[in-house]
Amino acid sequence: MKKQGTRDVHGRLIHTCAVEGCNRTGHGKHCNVHAMRLRLHGDVGPAQIRRRIPSNTPPADRLDIIGWEVDADGCHIWRGRLDEYGYGRVDAIKGAPLRAHRVSYERANGVELTRDSYLLHSCDKPACINPEHLRAGTQRENIHDMWAKGRARPWGREQEAS
Ligand SMILES: [Zn+2]
Ligand SMILES: [Zn+2]
Repeated sequence: MKKQGTRDVHGRLIHTCAVEGCNRTGHGKHCNVHAMRLRLHGDVGPAQIRRRIPSNTPPADRLDIIGWEVDADGCHIWRGRLDEYGYGRVDAIKGAPLRAHRVSYERANGVELTRDSYLLHSCDKPACINPEHLRAGTQRENIHDMWAKGRARPWGREQEAS
């Protein structure tokens, strides 16, 4: 993931962040953490940006603050903590933490997922929060997907009749 000049599946170059001591990657000159810092503050700041996230920060905003790393598949690998299934976790303002990929999907698509709606990862990486790698599926598809884990399955293909 630290290789210079790697390309993701979309052919976009992945660079190691230009900030000395930062080994995060991104599509531009900087990783997304330093790119945002530059946008907000006009300078990239220290290599290790640590700040307490105010408790009233909406989960969608926490995505950018905590950030992700772009890997060679174009996956956005969550930098925050993961649950026992490998899914990213992000704190809610109130109540139990949320799954980061669901928050990412909701933000990108401007929707609110119901509790019984499922998201499928095209990349099979639970820690990936790239909304382009996520699509909503039914519970039936989700179970099928878990069964087929480890096997590539093209999107949108009809399930075998059963
Ligand atoms: Zn950086
Ligand atoms: Zn992915």
